[in-house]
Amino acid sequence: MSKLKNKVAVITGGNSGIGLGIAEALKSEGAVGAIVGRNQETLDSSLKLLGDGFIGINADVTNVEELERIFKTTSEKFGKIDILVPNAGAGAVGTVANTTEADYDQLMNLNLKAVYFTVQKALSYMNDGGSIILIGSNAAHRAYASFTLYGAAKSAVIYLAKGLSSDLLDRKIRANVIIPGTTDTPAFNKFIPADQVDAVKQQFADVVPAGRIGKPFDIGKAAVFLASEDSSFMLGAELLVDGGMTYLV
Ligand code: NDP
Repeated sequence: MSKLKNKVAVITGGNSGIGLGIAEALKSEGAVGAIVGRNQETLDSSLKLLGDGFIGINADVTNVEELERIFKTTSEKFGKIDILVPNAGAGAVGTVANTTEADYDQLMNLNLKAVYFTVQKALSYMNDGGSIILIGSNAAHRAYASFTLYGAAKSAVIYLAKGLSSDLLDRKIRANVIIPGTTDTPAFNKFIPADQVDAVKQQFADVVPAGRIGKPFDIGKAAVFLASEDSSFMLGAELLVDGGMTYLV
């Protein structure tokens, strides 16, 4: 039986990588809803992949004024929202010594401010008993060169799961956070020279205790769990989906 039949989901960054993997997994359990991104081409190709039951919304989540349109459009089409996944995010800006103020603002606006206000603007469009699934990173638990600011932003996102669950107790909306390890997405691949893709992925896989890097659908399956009644006893929790990278290496 489908665990999420007709549940309404909004996934920011659902037109690529982990967000698309989450949308596919939620849909495979019967969810409908919206994926959000800025690139119309990848929105269109992702919608084609997802098939019926999903719409694409072109919006920049760092523009707080645009956020309400996402939830108004989704709820007009499908009804109130049950599952919110503020997944849009991006990684490293470099070492502390070479980070500019503009880099800082850009990274924090996307990875923290946009997540916070996405949740805030969604709330009046959400059903009580809904699920908020945040996306952290194992870079918040381990030190990686050039990931200092990103790790700090994701540490704050991990805290948000606790704070939001507490704030939203009266509405029985649970917030939890998935901690992905290295996952095979366009964001990961864009730093690898085209002729070295297989070799570099193998190098990464060699240090992951599970013997491979993550796939977006691995994160998607964890999102299904956190969206469903199966996780009804989890509030403010961190779910590591990292092949053992965070604590076993
Ligand atoms: P991708 O670059 O593949 O996808 C990022 C998505 O976010 C795209 O769909 C992009 O769409 C969207 N996005 C980016 N900026 C904006 C914006 N301003 N407004 C709306 N949408 C935006 O990245 P991943 O799938 O790898 O990352 C997804 C999440 O997972 C991020 O939060 C990332 O930090 C986290 N993560 C990733 C890991 C990995 O190894 N890949 C590891 C740990 C965490 P568009 O360009 O169309 O706007």
